[in-house]
Amino acid sequence: MAAGILARRLGDRRGRIEVIESPEIGTIGVGEATIPPLRLFNSALGLDENEFLRRTQGTIKLGIEFQDWSRIGHTYFHPFGVYGVGAETSALLQLWLSLQHSGERCSFEELSLNTVAAQLGRIAATQGADDALASVTAYAFHFDAGLYAAYLREYAEARGVSRIERKVVDVELRPEDGFIAALRLDDGSRVEADLFVDCSGFRGLLIEQALKTGYEDWTNWLPCDRAVAVPCASAGSLTPFTRSTARAAGWQWRIPLQHRIGNGYVYCSRFLSDDEAAATLMANLDGAPHAEPRFLRFTTGRRKKFWNKNCVALGLASGFLEPLESTSIHLIQRGLTHLLNLFPDRSFAPVLADEFNRIAIAKYERIRDFIILHYKATERNDSPLWRACREMDVPEPLAYRMRQFAHSGRVVRLSADLFVAPNWIAVLLGQGIFPAHHDPAVDQRDRTAIRRQLDAARAAIRWQAEAAPRHEDYIARNCRAAPPVAA
Ligand SMILES: Cc1cc2nc3c(=O)[nH]c(=O)nc-3n(C[C@H](O)[C@H](O)[C@H](O)COP(=O)(O)OP(=O)(O)OC[C@H]3O[C@@H](n4cnc5c(N)ncnc54)[C@H](O)[C@@H]3O)c2cc1C
Repeated sequence: MAAGILARRLGDRRGRIEVIESPEIGTIGVGEATIPPLRLFNSALGLDENEFLRRTQGTIKLGIEFQDWSRIGHTYFHPFGVYGVGAETSALLQLWLSLQHSGERCSFEELSLNTVAAQLGRIAATQGADDALASVTAYAFHFDAGLYAAYLREYAEARGVSRIERKVVDVELRPEDGFIAALRLDDGSRVEADLFVDCSGFRGLLIEQALKTGYEDWTNWLPCDRAVAVPCASAGSLTPFTRSTARAAGWQWRIPLQHRIGNGYVYCSRFLSDDEAAATLMANLDGAPHAEPRFLRFTTGRRKKFWNKNCVALGLASGFLEPLESTSIHLIQRGLTHLLNLFPDRSFAPVLADEFNRIAIAKYERIRDFIILHYKATERNDSPLWRACREMDVPEPLAYRMRQFAHSGRVVRLSADLFVAPNWIAVLLGQGIFPAHHDPAVDQRDRTAIRRQLDAARAAIRWQAEAAPRHEDYIARNCRAAPPVAA
């Protein structure tokens, strides 16, 4: 991603771009679910959407289904996009709350086109539209991360990026200021550069091992520190959503691709052994496993600085937030946007790094709080993990948001928020926080008119969802990938 977008956007300023990677070390390769801004990144690269889906065995994602999170047996959907038809989601929530408070029961979820379409296995488009996706404003993708990387490698190499298949064995620092001078490779060669982008994964080869930047640990709020992943055969219809199922010591993801389903159990090693996690995962697959389970370890948190001296850390080298809301790949792409906006010259003015770090830290912290909400706002007390999460203190900005919503459904907007009112409303309501009051101004309106407005919106949404193409038909017609070649 970094090499591709830098090659495309820097134009004549770009000089030489080299990617150094070691097949001996390999990639994590499990990032498979995304959020809608990925489409902006692909479009900045100039990729055709259907070609991208074909190349990556991709599918459409309309949101995430959360099972057993607020309590066992309860399911809610966090859709992309807004609620209602032509109304602002926060205003719609107030109308809905006024009916609830007067004893009328009706569903808020049915006011989301993505939610209704996802439940029907459809992709929410206007009836009869050939180019169905063009009429959907809020969707993302599931894809095979390894295939996306291979696709972007081809893209970058076609734009003059060179690739060195070698292991970095040493990092040389300039004695005068501690900037990185060069990397030493395992064949004895030396690579000098002005700017180093550290994409070396959890190890943070440059940002941490060489520059000793430091790490802020968030395990006290997000205690899961392991994952076990396994792909399996597809079974049943192709669901246009990610599923996240809360389990005793964490949660399990299910990500449907064209050629397989990606699965994993993110768990807390304080409460569950690796063997138990693998056994739970293997017992909860849709189809036959395609591989042996693969174990991963992580520490939730972030580097103290993302840009230090002449090194910018991206991806797992910059920090880790568990993939509950599919935000890691997005953070890489945002990091690249900010790097392009603040691109340095050889003097590396510290103000540029300061601004990059200010933005990146705020973004990370806002997303962190959104993820913590899923753990904190739960009625579950059936296992030590959930009891600990219910009892924990959360960061004050999140506590404040929860108080505001619990009082009267007010959604607080903070700078650097990735998730906006519809996202917060979906998860706050879904996790069981029901506002005690509503905006008194709504009581000036005739209740029958409010009911009619919501009924009409609900009916229009259902009609549109039922008329939309089925997900698998859309894929078959527009972007069916070639069957994978057996290894
Ligand atoms: C359990 C789990 C689930 C995830 N799910 C999602 C998801 O659903 N959605 C999402 O957006 N993100 C997800 N992520 C995050 C996503 O996987 C990563 O953000 C993404 O894969 C990028 O990884 P990376 O390139 O930073 O690191 P890696 O994939 O670890 O790549 C590191 C690279 O550095 C190279 N390297 C390392 N050391 C050396 C060396 N000494 N010499 C030469 N080369 C070296 C390696 O060869 C490799 O190419 C998930 C992560 C985990 C752990």
